[in-house]
Amino acid sequence: MLRTVAGFDRLGEENAFTVLARAAELSAQGRDVINLGIGQPDFRTPEHVVEAAVQALRDGHHGYTETTGILPLRETVAGYLAARTGVTIPADRVMIVPGGKVTMFAAIMMFGEPGAEILYPDPGFPIYRSMIEFTGARPVPVPIRESNDFAFSAEELLSLITPATRLVILNSPANPTAGVTPRPEVNRLVAGLLEHPNVAVLSDEIYDRIIYGGAEHVSLLGYPEIRNRLILLNGWSKTYAMTGWRLGWSVWPTTLVERFRKFAVNGWSCVNAAAQYAGIAALEGPQDAVDTMVSEFDSRRQVTVDLLNRLPGVSCVAPRGAFYAFPNIAETGWAAKSLASALLERAGVALIGGPDFGTLGEGYLRVSYANSEDNIRKALARVGDFLAEARPR
Ligand code: PLP
Repeated sequence: MLRTVAGFDRLGEENAFTVLARAAELSAQGRDVINLGIGQPDFRTPEHVVEAAVQALRDGHHGYTETTGILPLRETVAGYLAARTGVTIPADRVMIVPGGKVTMFAAIMMFGEPGAEILYPDPGFPIYRSMIEFTGARPVPVPIRESNDFAFSAEELLSLITPATRLVILNSPANPTAGVTPRPEVNRLVAGLLEHPNVAVLSDEIYDRIIYGGAEHVSLLGYPEIRNRLILLNGWSKTYAMTGWRLGWSVWPTTLVERFRKFAVNGWSCVNAAAQYAGIAALEGPQDAVDTMVSEFDSRRQVTVDLLNRLPGVSCVAPRGAFYAFPNIAETGWAAKSLASALLERAGVALIGGPDFGTLGEGYLRVSYANSEDNIRKALARVGDFLAEARPR
């Protein structure tokens, strides 16, 4: 028997990928499955971005690049952040990574070890907890409640910090709840963090541009008092419909840049060269494709919430960001994972059970509306028929 390190026995999953695989299997058997499970835009990458990558390949950008990304891209990211947040950071603190996920992977690896504690949102993106467990650190869930519009509560979060806390993970706009934490709450959090100067902050802002109805995205970059311990996670995946390109960026505190570079050179050497040129085109080029996508998501969001609220036993608060709805299904009598699995197998609708995002996800489903309005209508009609006919188990 081969003996691997204990962390591998503790690794978790991202169930959206498992559901995607099962949905594909059912479709291959000839079943008609509508996928409201996966968290990626159903749009193409804007054409000028694709062209920039093609051009880069034609121009011979076929080799390794600097580990932390080509300088023009890092400068572009720094300029983009300055324009969006008013905060100027030097390009040498910007790290180009193969996907947003890699930043959380690196940050959690950097701070997690037995004896350490890391705070993470529950329900939240499942990889946070999985990676915390991998490192042997203690995962400390920060409850994200419907009664608080799925924003985090600064007071509750701060009350969970102990002398063992090394890292706090924040995510707004949030997956899976679609909550957006308002500025006064972020202000309270930052003020409270000043009493814990040795706690690092990982702010996952991958959905920052996908926001609705007057909600405001508050970047943690806007708080100079914590900038020396902030790791900012962002990237191209969601904003520019580039999930398959594997391209992300992060901003690291000056003191961690060299550690991060070493970690990167040990892990992936550099990011795909052509994709980096595409990244420049995305940030510097016209943004109308982003606006069109977000306004399309917004109208689907309204349809989705309206239809969900008509289902028996289901209620859904209006999502403020990302492209998910997180309906409360407690009154249906179904356990969330049983319902998600029955809907996939028996009604041909793929969505994700709330417990796949943490224990506080029980009683909820995650519905991704990154699908056509027609499909959303058809899928939710099937859910309605199913709930009317089937007995909970
Ligand atoms: N952070 C959150 C909250 C996400 O939902 C996702 C993807 O679903 C990521 C990070 C990872 O993004 P990427 O595909 O760029 O690795």
